[in-house]
Amino acid sequence: PAYLLPRTSQDDLPLALDKALTEVERQFDTPTRLLKDITDRMLWEFRKGLAGAPTEDESFMPMIPSYLQQIPHGTEKGTFLALDLGGTNLRVCEVELLGDSKWRMKQQKYKVSEALKVGEVTALFDYIAGSVDHFLTEIGTSASEDEKLHLGFTFSFPVQQTAIAAGTLMSWTKGFECKNAIGKDVVQLLQDALDRKHIHVRCSALVNDTCGTLMAAAYERGDCLCGGIFGTGTNGAYVEDIDQLTKMGFQGDELEENKRHGLDKMVVNTEWGAFDNERTVLPFTIFDSRVDRISINPRKQAYEKMISGMYLGEVTRNVLLHLVDSQVLFKGYSTRALNAHYGLDTALMSALEAPFVPNSPASSDPLAAVRDVLTSSLGLAPALVADADCSAAARVSEVVGTRGCRLAACAIAATVRQTEKTTQGQEKELVFGLDGSLVEFYPRFEQRVRDALVEILGEEDAKRVKIALAKDGSGVGAALCAQAAAAMESKGAT
Ligand code: BGC
Ligand code: MG
Repeated sequence: PAYLLPRTSQDDLPLALDKALTEVERQFDTPTRLLKDITDRMLWEFRKGLAGAPTEDESFMPMIPSYLQQIPHGTEKGTFLALDLGGTNLRVCEVELLGDSKWRMKQQKYKVSEALKVGEVTALFDYIAGSVDHFLTEIGTSASEDEKLHLGFTFSFPVQQTAIAAGTLMSWTKGFECKNAIGKDVVQLLQDALDRKHIHVRCSALVNDTCGTLMAAAYERGDCLCGGIFGTGTNGAYVEDIDQLTKMGFQGDELEENKRHGLDKMVVNTEWGAFDNERTVLPFTIFDSRVDRISINPRKQAYEKMISGMYLGEVTRNVLLHLVDSQVLFKGYSTRALNAHYGLDTALMSALEAPFVPNSPASSDPLAAVRDVLTSSLGLAPALVADADCSAAARVSEVVGTRGCRLAACAIAATVRQTEKTTQGQEKELVFGLDGSLVEFYPRFEQRVRDALVEILGEEDAKRVKIALAKDGSGVGAALCAQAAAAMESKGAT
């Protein structure tokens, strides 16, 4: 890849540091050939997952049917509650779908403490129900007193869905590790907690954030092929032909019946964060292995750990420590923050790289801006941070982040390939509604993804991919799913 940040142009980059950086770059390199292999392997896992039962075989992605069979057009209306759990915060929202691709939203964030993330699952759901209660009494709702409110629950973890409002937790990700939760129906957990508090709310849809993002993007733009999250974790959901979803077991009359009702598609939650847990193609470095080994879920979420916000900073921290330990960075000194597990927030990577983006706020003196970040956020004494250290630290961030973006492009490319049959010949652009902290804040995220897409798919096909920032799918999307559940109920479909 073409790196943006200067390195060798830095006249006096010490030779030892220069050599060490070259070696790091070599390890994080993602040549086109590799990206194509990864894309092919992902397609293979897509197809395995669509055909097989993931609970029986964990060697490929789950490819979970969402039971969402209709994509919004923008005309949907109604008022719904939405609950969003799974990234950094818990959010309660009231979403009013106005029916002209627009909505109004009231929302409140609630902090989920580290203790709740690893405690008893009932304690977590009591807290969630308590937050809904707080929202309804403090913020209020526009629905009338005796109306039972319908709630869409965005729960951003792998769930084996069995209906639009039912599904069992397969595993925790992203630092959550509550006890007695795996195998439980999360809608039941939520409904029980709401009922215990006598809250008049019915959870009528269970939604992965990627599905919500897809629904929200479609509502806003009239169409969407795939909803993707590149945030704390990563994952994608896309619109699949039910013919391809062979594990659903739709056959003969049932299949025809579905098609007659226009239900010939279903949104599939790929759980691509779990891609290549078998480690067949992903370019693991010793830094990745270390991050994985001391994570709460070793050997799981292999792809996510190279791409998403929870881990990119951690990989970068490990590379920086390696350079420190090799005595080529910061005069061989580390700091408490740099030594701490997850001590380098991925947001710092944005701060390290942003000053090098032409015409950005700090671009007149990028090295000074980087020095500022290193001293203030990582606690390095100014005397330890020479210009060469500043450019090296930024470069490490860029190398780790660029690999993440390029690997992210493989999932997009695999989705394009998988849906080729249905989208071929159409002039239409392929809309990818993306959300998450990397999409929103990481400098040049889209550019880096795009460059890789061109390498994988070729100029022509890559051009059809439209990347749209789909902010807040987990709120609006959950409301749309609750709306879809209501519509399906009245249609009598399952
Ligand atoms: C979860 C997915 C989720 C993604 C993005 C992953 O860790 O397994 O269900 O969609 O994070 O939030
Ligand atoms: Mg989220």
